[in-house]
Amino acid sequence: MVQILIDVHCHINLYLTIDKIIKNARDVGVEKIVAVAMSFISQERVLEIARQHKEVYASLGIHPEEVKMNEKIEQQLDSIIRLIRKNKNNVCAIGEIGLDHYFIKDKELYPLQKTIFEKMLLLAQELELPVNLHTKGAEKTVFDTLPSYSIPNINIHWYSGPEKFLNLGIDRGYFFSITPAISYSPAVKKVALNVDKEHLLLESDGPVKYSGSVGVPAMVKNVLNSISKIKEINSHDLERQIEQNTRKIFPSIF
Ligand SMILES: [Zn+2]
Repeated sequence: MVQILIDVHCHINLYLTIDKIIKNARDVGVEKIVAVAMSFISQERVLEIARQHKEVYASLGIHPEEVKMNEKIEQQLDSIIRLIRKNKNNVCAIGEIGLDHYFIKDKELYPLQKTIFEKMLLLAQELELPVNLHTKGAEKTVFDTLPSYSIPNINIHWYSGPEKFLNLGIDRGYFFSITPAISYSPAVKKVALNVDKEHLLLESDGPVKYSGSVGVPAMVKNVLNSISKIKEINSHDLERQIEQNTRKIFPSIF
């Protein structure tokens, strides 16, 4: 059986050269890319890119930083929910959603952020879809909120918060996706080390920059190799395991 790598979290709509990004990914074995929407306009764009490229799968949702970026987000919320419902058969997950109390310092925005997050979780529950979560600086609230919803599977993206909640997430069986920041970030290394191999996933979070270079899906190959070293697991075996993990959480992309 041919093994493949999957990038489970990429903002593919933000690249100018999508064909080249996909080709470079495939050249190193990255055959599937989950494209996560963030904003009002990116929902349709992500669906369109997924329609045009067989390697790309749409994950729709509202990013927690939208409360700062887009003053109309509250009014647009219902139409985004309608759009996701309408396209439910072409959506593999709800995300990128969550809370952010690190980049968003203005506490007056937190209630709206939470309202949006809870509506997104309710939608994931209704559509029986997994979620792709951002938790930066708001780990406690996110982890306190999740048990109230019945969601098939949870992907915590680029976790860098307190060890206490990392351990809680591990106990609850959440999946953790590891970014190229594993090459320099002690927090990311710790996640890769502590999470069992059955709950690890790979992501680029591109086009976020890593040490000055633009993040791209092809980089998840190096992420795999870094995890393999840290956990002292043969990279071929780890690749097979991570592919199985990805099948479990995002069954509709296979
Ligand atoms: Zn992201």
